[in-house]
Amino acid sequence: MKVLKFGGTSVGSSKNINNVINILENYGKSGNIACVVSAVGGITDKLLLAGKQAQKKDDAFIDTFNLIKDIHFNIIKELNPGKYEAIINYTIEKLNALKSLLDGIYLINELSPKTSDKLVSFGEILSSFIIAETMKNRGLSANRKNSQELITTNSNFTKAEVDYKITNKNIQEYFKSASEKIIILPGFISKSKSGEQTTLGRGGSDFTAAIVAAALNVEQLEIWTDVSGMFTTNPKMVKQAYPIEKISYQEAMELSHFGAKVLYPPTVQPVLSLGIPIHIKNTLEPEAVGTIISNDPVNTNGPVKGISNINNIALLTLQGSGMVGIPGFSKRLFETLSQEKINVILITQASSEHSICLGIEAKDAELAKSSIDAVFENEIALGKIDPIIVETGLSIIALVGDNMKNHQGISGKMFSSLGKNNINIRAIAQGASEKNISAVILESDVKKALNTLHEQFFESKTKQLNVFITGVGNVGERLVEQIKQQRKYLKENLKINLRVIGLSNSRKMVFNEDGIDLKTWKEQLENGEKATLQGFFDRTKSLNLRNSIFVDVTANKDVADLYAQYLKESIGIVACNKIACSSDFDNYKLLKRLSLEYNAPLLFETNVGAGLPIIDTLNNLIASGDKVTSIQAVLSGSLNFVFNNFNNQTKFYDVVKQAGVEGYTEPDPRIDLSGVDVARKILILARESGTQMDLEDIENTSFLSEAGLKSDTVDDFYKTLIADEAHYQSLYTSAKTKNCQLKYVAQFNNGKASVGLQEIPEGHPFYNLQGSDNIVMFYTHRYVNQPMIIKGAGAGADVTASGLFADIIRLGND
Ligand code: ADP
Ligand code: ASP
Ligand code: MG
Repeated sequence: MKVLKFGGTSVGSSKNINNVINILENYGKSGNIACVVSAVGGITDKLLLAGKQAQKKDDAFIDTFNLIKDIHFNIIKELNPGKYEAIINYTIEKLNALKSLLDGIYLINELSPKTSDKLVSFGEILSSFIIAETMKNRGLSANRKNSQELITTNSNFTKAEVDYKITNKNIQEYFKSASEKIIILPGFISKSKSGEQTTLGRGGSDFTAAIVAAALNVEQLEIWTDVSGMFTTNPKMVKQAYPIEKISYQEAMELSHFGAKVLYPPTVQPVLSLGIPIHIKNTLEPEAVGTIISNDPVNTNGPVKGISNINNIALLTLQGSGMVGIPGFSKRLFETLSQEKINVILITQASSEHSICLGIEAKDAELAKSSIDAVFENEIALGKIDPIIVETGLSIIALVGDNMKNHQGISGKMFSSLGKNNINIRAIAQGASEKNISAVILESDVKKALNTLHEQFFESKTKQLNVFITGVGNVGERLVEQIKQQRKYLKENLKINLRVIGLSNSRKMVFNEDGIDLKTWKEQLENGEKATLQGFFDRTKSLNLRNSIFVDVTANKDVADLYAQYLKESIGIVACNKIACSSDFDNYKLLKRLSLEYNAPLLFETNVGAGLPIIDTLNNLIASGDKVTSIQAVLSGSLNFVFNNFNNQTKFYDVVKQAGVEGYTEPDPRIDLSGVDVARKILILARESGTQMDLEDIENTSFLSEAGLKSDTVDDFYKTLIADEAHYQSLYTSAKTKNCQLKYVAQFNNGKASVGLQEIPEGHPFYNLQGSDNIVMFYTHRYVNQPMIIKGAGAGADVTASGLFADIIRLGND
């Protein structure tokens, strides 16, 4: 004999019921079967809704009733083409009774727990009858037995307790005499000793099956549902969750108690002492292995077995300096809750005993507050304790595993990974059995928390990075293309799962929580929504994904002004935009502080020398205890291009124009030619070396002509380049006669910085600098005579994009 249970989704449509019948038919070949079924998926909720509507005198209860009727009629007709009359007649009879009950509720305005149980019973009564009759119609040896005649309970309506003595006897006797191979039993429903209809609690069909399995002492109980087993965490919340092959009864109980809905928590209880294993299987994928819950000691995948969550939690906090001295405080507190039938899910008590926190279901919060405040009225009036504080909108997340107690540092890992992702923890509890560590967090953080913890404990080998890119012009586009090309490599070799979640240019933005398909990102962006900087931030924040990284590929001050907001949400920043780090010192300091405080890295390697590892090298020198004494550098790819191509055969204007065409200068070439861009770069290097400095502190001797300096517009500026050709030629001739090259040099010496055009003599490391190359020489306490030199292409879309990419990967290795 085998006991199988099929849940609401498994019997939610005629197609799924056909799957169920096929499974039963196959199993029936090798022995007898007791098959427990739930109501058709969603029907219990609809019955309760109709009841509530009727109670409130809302005529919509008739629509809900009609919907329930239609759902059943359709299923019956689809399953039994041309042969459904008898089933329909029975169904009509039951539906008439249901309608009378609803009319009664409507009339008297009352829906008691007792009536509610009567109401929901229709769901399982109908589903079990339809399935059994359909099987008979197909010539199978099947019959329906109403479990209300077998399972006897007390009168604790909506969650009745089973009288096992009577129940076991009933079940054993019935099955002894049953002549059909397959017996279909409605789950969830029962009757009290005095014959009133009761139920075993929401999700209770699992429990019915366990009761039958234990009474018959079968070899195995199978729970068939819509997922392939008990997963490491809810698969609907975490895509990477996977089925646990084997798990102990205690672990399964703990996980289900803390929200893993796949198994109704009391289910384990009847089968545990008999050692009957529970096998969870998927009706939609019968060949999948599923999960075996048993006593077998299993040691797979480390100490944490699963992660679960319960939503709709309220946290009650009782505190007060006089709490220690109140006699029988805990007793009175828990007695009050018990009298009100309020279930306490989590308890934490500060070791000072000045406060105690209780996690309960949010629906009970109001009642809990009023009853506790009433019980402690005197103590509150005397100021010994404060009126109870209630917080709602919370959830509990729990790590579960039999072996956690033997492993150090699990809670440390749990809380640090939650903290890193800016998930605030309101309360913590660790069960005395150490099979469970739970935390209360905001409900809005649950998805992020489950994903973070799942990654931490089950996918430690891969880290997901969620990237949001603003500015997909020249450099941004290359970055996206590079990511597209490298995604597979990163996953396989660096265990980084890099996903682009948001993209924006100045007009449009697009988001996809599962990662934007990079093959078609341009079309998707074109068809995206209207972009705003704040809108981009809001969406990034509300998606609330772990390891989120905002990538700024603009040169826009308004974007830089939002960094603080991003950092405060623990969203890391990677920027080639120089504005933030070269803004006033207070702002730079603030961003650095926020980055530390919120554990959100701020990386801007490409601010200096594009993809060259200049800032990273400098940071490493400082971190290892070195001190920078001097920096000599050529940092402008555009000015290098200009002065490497300018001579007495060319015109200064033509060369500058050409630099623009080739993408070496900003649209406004004055930013490059005035030296401001280089000044910003040396400022950033000086700051990263540990010096407090502002842009105004940098000495900037311009090589531009007087008129060039004064020009108001880009056009005027270009005109001065033509008019002042002689001035620029004189710069060239002066250098040429001394056998020197013109280079635009940035210097930092003993706390002072300057930028300006210099005549570089032959033999100097700057002399032979080609094309748009950059060079930086660091003189430090360790590099005294021979500087550390970094040299290479310091401009261009590809190298800048790869510098941004490298920063993103740095974050991944963090
Ligand atoms: P049934 O109708 O078959 O009783 P339930 O809806 O009661 O099914 O339970 C199955 C659902 O439980 C899954 O669809 C899934 O959303 C949810 N669930 C929550 N946590 C887990 C988990 N750890 N493993 C598997 N499913 C889970
Ligand atoms: N139909 C009941 C419910 O929805 C019992 C069950 O499905 O297990 O709660
Ligand atoms: Mg269920």
